[in-house]
Amino acid sequence: LALVVGAPREDHANGVRTARALLLAVLAAVLLFTLLPMLLVEGLFLRRLGRYRQQVETLLRRGHLSTRFPTSGGDELGNLGQALNALLDQTERSQERLAQQAAHDELTGLPNRLAFGRTLGDLRGRGEPFAVALIDLDDFKGINDTLGHEVGDEVLRLAAARLTGALPAGALLARLGGDEFAVLLPGVGAEDASARTRALLDTLAAPLPTGTVTLWVRASAGVSCWPQDDTDESALLRYADLAMYRAKATGGGVQRYHAGLSQDAQRRSELERSLRGVLGRGELWLAYQPVVELGSGAVVGCEALLRWQSPVHGAVSPAQFIPIAEERGLIHEIGAWVLREACTLAARWQRGGRPLRVAVNVSAVQLRGAHFARDVAAILRDTGLAPSLLELEVTETAVMANLCAATAQLTELRALGVSVALDDFGTGYSSLELVRELPLDKLKLDRSFVMGAERDPRRQAIVASILHLAGALGLTVVAEGLETPEQRELLLTLGCPLAQGYLYARPLDERALGEFLRDERRQAGATEVNISRVV
Ligand code: C2E
Ligand code: MG
Ligand code: MG
Repeated sequence: LALVVGAPREDHANGVRTARALLLAVLAAVLLFTLLPMLLVEGLFLRRLGRYRQQVETLLRRGHLSTRFPTSGGDELGNLGQALNALLDQTERSQERLAQQAAHDELTGLPNRLAFGRTLGDLRGRGEPFAVALIDLDDFKGINDTLGHEVGDEVLRLAAARLTGALPAGALLARLGGDEFAVLLPGVGAEDASARTRALLDTLAAPLPTGTVTLWVRASAGVSCWPQDDTDESALLRYADLAMYRAKATGGGVQRYHAGLSQDAQRRSELERSLRGVLGRGELWLAYQPVVELGSGAVVGCEALLRWQSPVHGAVSPAQFIPIAEERGLIHEIGAWVLREACTLAARWQRGGRPLRVAVNVSAVQLRGAHFARDVAAILRDTGLAPSLLELEVTETAVMANLCAATAQLTELRALGVSVALDDFGTGYSSLELVRELPLDKLKLDRSFVMGAERDPRRQAIVASILHLAGALGLTVVAEGLETPEQRELLLTLGCPLAQGYLYARPLDERALGEFLRDERRQAGATEVNISRVV
């Protein structure tokens, strides 16, 4: 500027031009060095960054992790894309793991209640018929209580594997919790549902080798069908559950739902309420059914049968209320009362010079109690009954529920001098191995074999072979439910030594039993029949 101010006019103009050019050059340089990098940054990075932002927005919008970040460029942005993709992969994997955990049962790996409910909903939406089966292992609690939870877990895993192996195509097996499994059978109508479920249960029948012990595990199942029984999902499950409980109460197997079961469930819960405090209210009593020597007709013992006379429900059958008492843990108290009552009566007969062996039914739950044998010993001591005059009846199901503990208890009881009978023989497993292994004195041939045996050669063959087996093993046989003279003749011919049934006497109260025995003496002539013999 000094140059321009002090210079002649021409130079002055030149100077201005030069300065302007200089200024323009500086401006151009400034623009070149600031805008160009900005444009480059915009072109190369900001636009790519924008794509990353869009990806993030897509991820957030869609809520799933299927989109991936661009990884091209081989620069820091490319590396960032790779790192973000790796993060997404990892998140996706843990999401899958969580979803798997939320819908699956950890122990068996089967779908759980949640997954089952979803599939049930989907099936309903499709509108094709399907069946729901609930399968529950019988007396699983007994396995857990006596063999421990590890064996229990192993049983569940093995049962799950067996059932999975037997599933028809398209069916879904889930574990709903505890020892309860559920099966969805798509396309299976009401006419096939029970048979399909039975086929599944059959796969559980073979022994389960758990590593430490081999167990015979049985299961019961209830079946409901869509759309016949109900169109509502939760009702279908509830009905299958009701049917399953009925199956359990009637000795296992498969039960298809019917409307009567809902009424039964109502009655059951009413009975359950009334059953509490039943002993204190004096509503229970014992009936005694004489056991007779078939050849001589002499009474050799009696079976104590529990009776409940409820002011609300009237006379309730033990077949109805004992399972409830077992389930609700009331059977210990009730069972102990039965034992004491029966032993007290038998001790009175013993003191009166007419020893009569009394048989008492023992439930699986009682047998599982660690102190059972000790409690029996205490009752014998208190009542003064000779142990040889007490017989305990156990069912195969009760014993199988917990073979080891049952065997130990029965051995201890026999060591006391108490005898043991296997009740309802032929209706449960009828395992010859079991009969060989158990400490037993007697087999009680179930009523179903006696019923109609006089007209049915097949039943006769079964009775004959059971008698033969018992003879070979040194066991006595009592035939149950003898109703006709023809049955008596048949059993005598086949060599059955003892029987009980309506032909001789119905279960009698204490007084009626006394009269029955007095009549027997009178008829036979007190000295002719050896009534003091106890078999
Ligand atoms: P159970 O031990 O097999 O008893 C025999 C059942 O057959 C009794 O039924 C008896 O009344 C019935 N009965 C006897 N003779 C005949 C006959 O000729 N024809 C027919 N149709 N039936 C006959 P009840 O008294 O209803 O007992 C049912 C079951 O309840 C018993 O079967 C037993 O398993 C159980 N129970 C009874 N009392 C007790 C008890 O004190 N404790 C336990 N845990 N269970 C018991
Ligand atoms: Mg019995
Ligand atoms: Mg029986």
